[in-house]
Amino acid sequence: MPTLLEAAKLAGKSTGLVFTCTIDDATPDAFVTHAVSRNDSENITKQMAYSGVDVLFGGGAALMKPKGVDDGDRSDGVNLVTALKAQGYSYVTNKNQMDQSKSTKIWGLFQPWNLDADFDRNPKLQPSLAEMTEKSLSILAANPKGFFLMVEASDIDTFGHENDPVGIISETRAYDKALKVAMDFAKKDGHTAVVSMADHNTGGLYLTNYDSSPSFNDVMHQAKMTNHALRNKINKDGSNLKRVLDQGYGLRSLSSKDLSTIKQEWKKEEGDFSGVIGRMLGQKAGISFAHEDHTSEDVILYAYHPNNFKPSDFVKSGVVQNTDINKYVQYVSGLDLTALAQKQYASGHDIRALGASVTFDNSDKAFPAAVIKKGSVTVRLAVDKNYALLNGQKKLLRISTLLIDNKLWIDRSVLDWIK
Ligand SMILES: [Zn+2]
Repeated sequence: MPTLLEAAKLAGKSTGLVFTCTIDDATPDAFVTHAVSRNDSENITKQMAYSGVDVLFGGGAALMKPKGVDDGDRSDGVNLVTALKAQGYSYVTNKNQMDQSKSTKIWGLFQPWNLDADFDRNPKLQPSLAEMTEKSLSILAANPKGFFLMVEASDIDTFGHENDPVGIISETRAYDKALKVAMDFAKKDGHTAVVSMADHNTGGLYLTNYDSSPSFNDVMHQAKMTNHALRNKINKDGSNLKRVLDQGYGLRSLSSKDLSTIKQEWKKEEGDFSGVIGRMLGQKAGISFAHEDHTSEDVILYAYHPNNFKPSDFVKSGVVQNTDINKYVQYVSGLDLTALAQKQYASGHDIRALGASVTFDNSDKAFPAAVIKKGSVTVRLAVDKNYALLNGQKKLLRISTLLIDNKLWIDRSVLDWIK
């Protein structure tokens, strides 16, 4: 089944992904890749690099290069930066390069792994979510057929897991600013719909003490960094821990018992450093967490449409199911995923039905190839790549070749060569 972004691309629209997590993380990947397990990082990132998405900004540069090359961490030896450049992309790694780029096909990965939290980032090197959104819109909006852009403040979830209220505030504020960029664009443009939602809540943050003194605001305003930056500021022996907690995180006048609890967790390899300090800060500010996992309550959905046609109007209900958002976006952007699936994809079964044979050549371990033969025609389709070799000649495809759970999926136009 194609995704909304893939359908938009096939309809001639421009496409973009903006996030603060890594390029192998669930949300961005769900829009362009197809895999049985979300943990299949190296294959997922190969699919990302051949997805044809016009603009991609986020984290995870380490997943682009083999181990031993710069900060690369791939064990399959594949260099995806080279693969992107061969397809005509610009690849940038800091804010200045992003700002200066005039390219209409661009990837920007600004950290080896997740981007730093908005409170913690160096604004000269790492763009904000709002800046990445603005740059994306400036590129994508040039397409008269329109565009599809997904923007995720990925680390609201990360800091929810870590029970870090400062991180949650940092990333929610960053999201709010990015949403303003999208809304300002949509209102001015007049042909753009905006849907804003969460896939779930994380950590179950709740406010517990309305009358606390000092107030929630008084306490939280003193926090200037998340537990990630805090950890980096602590010196080797931990002797500056009290000062760092005081100045950075807003945790003032801690008892020596609390300080030693924090220090213990900080020393452990897998300690609950963020949780312990997050809960101590929460106690002062009147914030509590239910746990460190995803929670099950309904989430809020916001939507903007130039003619005020909202998802709740589409389903004629106050409660909108998550799958209805997909249908709503199809409807308002004139896409039809079911029709597209039938028109654009062919399976191994479809190939054999035409009397052709399919075998696999595994000599390139990173990119095994399906080899289709009928009469004098040989088609080589490297898995995860977006082109075919027709009797040795390179032909660009609109759909990358996929091998999911040992089932082959190819661009249906290939069938024309073996009919
Ligand atoms: Zn999560």
